[in-house]
Amino acid sequence: MDRVCRAIRPLEDRCYLEHRFDDQVRRLFGEAHLLGLPISRRYGDGQGVDMVTYALAIERIGREGTGVRTFFSGHTSLGMLTVQRWGDERQKERYLSPGTKGECILAFGLTEPAAGSDPGSLKTSFEERGGKFVLSGQKMWISNGSIADAVIVFANPKGKEEGMCAFVVEKGSPGFSAKPIQNKMGLYSSDTAAIFLDECEVPKENMLGPPGKGLSVAYSALMSGRLSVAAGCVGVIRDCLDEAVRYSGVRVQHGKLIGKHQLVQRHLGIMAVNLEAARLLTLNAAVLRQEHQDRPGDLAVRELADAAIAKAKYFAANASFDAANRAVQVFGANGYSLENRPGRHLVDTRVCKIYEGTDEILEQKIAVSVLGRDFEAYG
Ligand SMILES: Cc1cc2nc3c(=O)[nH]c(=O)nc-3n(C[C@H](O)[C@H](O)[C@H](O)COP(=O)(O)OP(=O)(O)OC[C@H]3O[C@@H](n4cnc5c(N)ncnc54)[C@H](O)[C@@H]3O)c2cc1C
Repeated sequence: MDRVCRAIRPLEDRCYLEHRFDDQVRRLFGEAHLLGLPISRRYGDGQGVDMVTYALAIERIGREGTGVRTFFSGHTSLGMLTVQRWGDERQKERYLSPGTKGECILAFGLTEPAAGSDPGSLKTSFEERGGKFVLSGQKMWISNGSIADAVIVFANPKGKEEGMCAFVVEKGSPGFSAKPIQNKMGLYSSDTAAIFLDECEVPKENMLGPPGKGLSVAYSALMSGRLSVAAGCVGVIRDCLDEAVRYSGVRVQHGKLIGKHQLVQRHLGIMAVNLEAARLLTLNAAVLRQEHQDRPGDLAVRELADAAIAKAKYFAANASFDAANRAVQVFGANGYSLENRPGRHLVDTRVCKIYEGTDEILEQKIAVSVLGRDFEAYG
């Protein structure tokens, strides 16, 4: 893992400034058998590791940047783990076996132009026609959207506002197209795209999970995705701390190393505490996620895991943003450059407070976990 991440670092440095995803990243992860880490050994290069090991691996990737970690999470946590949880044997063979080798990249398409925090309001629809499903609508802000070979998308039956279903839509399907989103404020080495479904034809066997269970599929994917965001943010905090410690040990002002100035030490101390707190919350969430994976029918475990993951993602996202901000401060003007890692972390980790559940949505979810369901803010 460490060897691959060290090989990815110079690629990431270059691609970030060139505003592009580098396909070599996919190849390097694939050749090192890392894409299949949490996938069963029955499929391709699946390694079958537990959720704690997986979280630690994502923490390591997170140190290289939120862009490369988002690629990894979009494919493995949101994509393959969702197929593993909900797919039938044919779907698992078709998407997991090549997916673990990097030969089939997945993406997860829930968000739409008018449906973000409230996925129940999505407008994409499907109908059965000529022995196929025909999907119409648009997905927005989809990580890996224009590089993916297949995207998990969600749609309601035409003319209805409930009964959501999930589908795996392959890139070459008639009526499918994707367009990269330009002018993001960061995350330059991660592909983010709009996806257009123009009477897109999908074989009937590509429905993922039981009919009408699309929201359950989406929420289970978000649990995996949020855990990976939390773990990636722990890696960001670690990298910000490492960078700030290194710089504090070489930069001299007022006749001494800046690391000897107590106000600089304060930044490092706060980062070190937040690193441990974020890591412990994330590992606790990973333990519960594993228990939920082992006993998916146990609703009490599911609720515990859901709340623990929400807490970990919420805390780690905010702590990583704070750590990046402090690392930029320790670097002074050199921090205010995208050529250095603290500045990149600052703009990139900002998205972790938005995607896969905004801070506000998670605050409410965590509050309800202590208040009880009667206090849910919305249906
Ligand atoms: C770089 C990037 C990558 C992404 N990747 C993916 C992906 O791979 N797949 C995917 O499906 N989506 C992806 N997203 C979309 C992301 O998940 C959504 O942006 C997120 O869910 C929030 O939705 P929204 O942007 O529509 O904001 P909105 O839902 O419109 O929210 C706007 C504001 O209102 C607040 N708000 C909304 N509802 C409530 C409420 N009930 N109570 C209190 N406050 C509320 C929100 O917290 C937020 O502050 C990505 C986004 C970005 C920026």
